[in-house]
Amino acid sequence: MKAVELRNVTKVYKTKYYEVVALRNVNLEVELGEFIAVMGPSGSGKSTLLNLVGCLDKPTEGEVIIKGRRTRELSDRELTKLRRDEIGFIFQQYNLIPTLTVEENIELPMVFKGISKEERERRVRELAEKLGIYELLERKPAELSGGQQQRVAIARALANKPSILLCDEPTGNLDSKSGEIVMEAIKELNEEGVTVILVTHDESLKRYAERVVKLRDGMIVDVSSNGS
Ligand code: ADP
Ligand code: ADP
Repeated sequence: MKAVELRNVTKVYKTKYYEVVALRNVNLEVELGEFIAVMGPSGSGKSTLLNLVGCLDKPTEGEVIIKGRRTRELSDRELTKLRRDEIGFIFQQYNLIPTLTVEENIELPMVFKGISKEERERRVRELAEKLGIYELLERKPAELSGGQQQRVAIARALANKPSILLCDEPTGNLDSKSGEIVMEAIKELNEEGVTVILVTHDESLKRYAERVVKLRDGMIVDVSSNGS
């Protein structure tokens, strides 16, 4: 089984005045446990690809298959469950809820899933330790540095033990030192078995990936494997 398969995926955004072909006949297989980087200039379709894999949007044509499950054939409820159980998302802008503490932010996906308070607390402690944010649990997001906020966002993304972590420019707002800490955390999770799909236009992040896919104008124009 593959973590993710895209088969002849095309995505067209239709607006009132024009159409944009954001992805054009894209084929891609991501192995379980792989770390793949998707690179390309702004507008090349990176976010669209990630949104399709994250089941946040549907392809206009073609198949998106997540761990053997054809998403086209799933109902909205099944899709929501698949997303909640299998997929974690992190973004450039952290997207933490400002009125909640760090602990409450990390807990939230588990609340939605109906996990008991006891189990939630255990999991929060485990994740906080892993990501080095234990002493921040009582704080609010605004009291944290960007790098700390992103590590909280990673902990939240992992709360329900997803097998696939989707990262959209996770270091885009960070200085290089904080970015490195965040990337090392993502790398470590990958080494523990989480499949990582990283979208970035930062060439320096290529070294973390086993495979680099280049997009241009909605098409895959190059795939290369890293020696390391
Ligand atoms: P990237 O992430 O590489 O910058 P995107 O996937 O965001 O690329 O965008 C690919 C193309 O699709 C761009 O031309 C963009 O303007 C267009 N696009 C993205 N989202 C929408 C949308 N919701 N409606 C219309 N066009 C969109
Ligand atoms: P990115 O950082 O991936 O380049 P963008 O700035 O292209 O992000 O897009 C941010 C959001 O705006 C995305 O959710 C995308 O779907 C939407 N978007 C991008 N281009 C367009 C567009 N031409 N029309 C409508 N929505 C768009």
